[in-house]
Parts: sequence; structure tokens; C-alpha cells
Amino acid sequence: MPVLSPPSPLRDIHALLDPLVALDRPGSPLRYDLVASFPHEGEIHPLPRLVFSGPPAAHDPIRLALFGGLHGDEPASVLAPLAFLERLVADPARATGYNLTVYPLCNPVGYARATRHNGADLDLNREFWRGSVQPEVVALERDLAARDFDGIITLHADDTAEGVYGYTHGRVLNEALLEPALRSAGYILPRDRRAQIDGFPARDGKIDACFQGILCAPPGRRPRPFDLIFETPARAPIDLQVEAAVTALDTILDEYRVFLAYAPNL
Ligand SMILES: [Zn+2]
Repeated sequence: MPVLSPPSPLRDIHALLDPLVALDRPGSPLRYDLVASFPHEGEIHPLPRLVFSGPPAAHDPIRLALFGGLHGDEPASVLAPLAFLERLVADPARATGYNLTVYPLCNPVGYARATRHNGADLDLNREFWRGSVQPEVVALERDLAARDFDGIITLHADDTAEGVYGYTHGRVLNEALLEPALRSAGYILPRDRRAQIDGFPARDGKIDACFQGILCAPPGRRPRPFDLIFETPARAPIDLQVEAAVTALDTILDEYRVFLAYAPNL
């Protein structure tokens, strides 16, 4: 049974999105549209997409995708991408050389109800690239296939976590991207340093194995974009979770530039 939450402005999707929609105006680097909208129990639920084009750099734009709210009961993962975008609109130079496609609300029904699962009571983060017919997954898979992302970042909040932690595939990216992100977020919330997190072996908050069916690039896509998952401890105050995630995202933008500059030499 879905757990119904009391009415809350935090759960009002339009109240959440309207400030961002207002930032999409002539001359703005931010564009807002919908990847899909679908009916559930008499209501239409939007799956929004925001595209932020940073000032140009000497290289082709680096195309990153950022996903939040796959689990509807993790509001920090919805609020952090929105806060990140608001700050980028105020200071676009922070994203020089980047094109960011942001999906802040991947499970709108779950978010409205404060449930982990979607309207069909499924964990969307076990449904990807397995022939799922869930409308959220179909829409996001279509975008993942059509848009050639260089990297994919997903935000979550974990109510069993003792601090921030994350996942990337392989040691090189763990050290180049995740470690600096955890270090900077560590000024805001502690790091989860347990040897095992969420059932996986972890080292200083870094994991390099994960569940099947999680949101990722299409199987077989080469070159493979990097996948990074950043988790905040869901029991921490939400404003600190948001701040930790925004700080981590800022750091990832900075560090990925450095990584690309040195990658040909690795
Ligand atoms: Zn989650």
C-alpha cells in the first residue's frame, strides 16, 4: 500500500517547478519542457526536463545528464538539482563548456505521494533496459538513447546511510570524480565510511558495484559515458542534504574538466 503523506508544499509539484519555469525566458541559458506527462488515477503527472547551456569553451560542449527523484520519498534528490540550476542561472560561468540536461522529478507520482515506488508500485531504479512498460522508464530510456551524454549523474537519499557516499564504475573515475565530490560535500555532511553500504563493499564511501536495472546509459553505448550516483543520508536535515549534493555537483563539473584535460595521457 502506498504511504500517503499529509499535504505539503514540498509535495506540490507545480509549486516546486514554477520558479524554474519562470527562469526560462528570452536570453536565458535555461530551457524547460516535458519529457512526458502521463495520467495516473485521474491526474496528469509531468516528467520535466531542464536544459542549461553554459557559456562556450574552446572544446565541444560536455553533455551531462542529471537525474533526481527516481525514488519519490527522497525529496533532497529533487530539490538539489533545482537549487543547482537556480545557482547556475545566477552564475552561468560555473558551467562553462557544459550542456546539462536535468531531470529533477523522474517519479512524479511517487513524489506526490512520498513513496519510493511509482504509481504501479515498482522501484523504477530496477526497471531500466529490461523492456519495462512503465511510462517514466519508457520516456527516460528514449531520452537516454537519443541524447549522446558524456556522463550521467543520479542523486539519491538513503535512510540507512550514516553520511554521504557514492558509486562510479571503476577505480579511475572513483578517484577522479567521486572522491573530490565526497571530499567537498564532506564539509557539509559526514562521509559514510562503513566497509559495507547498501549491501555492497565500500571504501571511504565509494562503491563500484551496483544493482541490476538501475538508470544508466543504453547497453552497448560506446564510448561509455561515466555513471555516477551520489547519495545523501536521508535522516540528515534536508537543507544540508541539498547543500551537500549541490556542492558535490559543482565539484564534479570542475573535476571532470580536469579529468578530460588529462585523460588522453592516462
Ligand atoms: Zn533512491
